[in-house]
Amino acid sequence: MTRTLPAPPPRIARLPRNQAGYPIPWFVDRTTGPADDPDFRIADQRKLHGAITFRCCWICGGWLRNQTLGLAATQYAYVIGPMCAVNRISAEPPAHRDCAIYAATACPFLTIPHMRRRPDLPADVIKPDGEMLLRNPGVALVWVTNTWRMVPGHELWNVDEPAELLWFREGRPASRDDAFKALASGMPELRAAADKDPHPEAAHEQLDEQYIQALKLLPGTALG
Ligand SMILES: [Zn+2]
Repeated sequence: MTRTLPAPPPRIARLPRNQAGYPIPWFVDRTTGPADDPDFRIADQRKLHGAITFRCCWICGGWLRNQTLGLAATQYAYVIGPMCAVNRISAEPPAHRDCAIYAATACPFLTIPHMRRRPDLPADVIKPDGEMLLRNPGVALVWVTNTWRMVPGHELWNVDEPAELLWFREGRPASRDDAFKALASGMPELRAAADKDPHPEAAHEQLDEQYIQALKLLPGTALG
């Protein structure tokens, strides 16, 4: 399968490229393999802590804070899977809006649904905080907020009400139907997690409410 990469925004164009020609995102741990062909699934923990301390873009490493003083609010764009629209938690720090859109349209993992996560991650890989859904829905969201809010005591982000929300499937804008199917097909996994909650009834009730809220965010629905 051949596909043409979208033109990268300047901040991404400056990143080094891997052997296949993809820009190597800033967060990638470059020490896990050949320097020009690292495993994109492995995040560098030092970068994670740097992103938290300095509020760097997770994808290009640049400063997120708006540098045009006081003119506009800083935008924090999360690239998340559809189920994060339900639980509103991201295990990865936010990025610039244009970097996030590039990732959602160019990253082969996010855009090609039949690519699977390889199960052969090195044993010493630190599992991201929170429940990681090992499912590739082929649908990715760019969720833009004006807030930076972490879950206390965890390396997780609360994604607050979106100022803008873009749904993609295989690198192109997702239809309402694509987005709905991606949401609905992920629910059994979240329900299974709610079953294991110490208070399953309350967990299911909360999940039902979160699902209703997520359905309001499907493409073609005006943000309130
Ligand atoms: Zn960036």
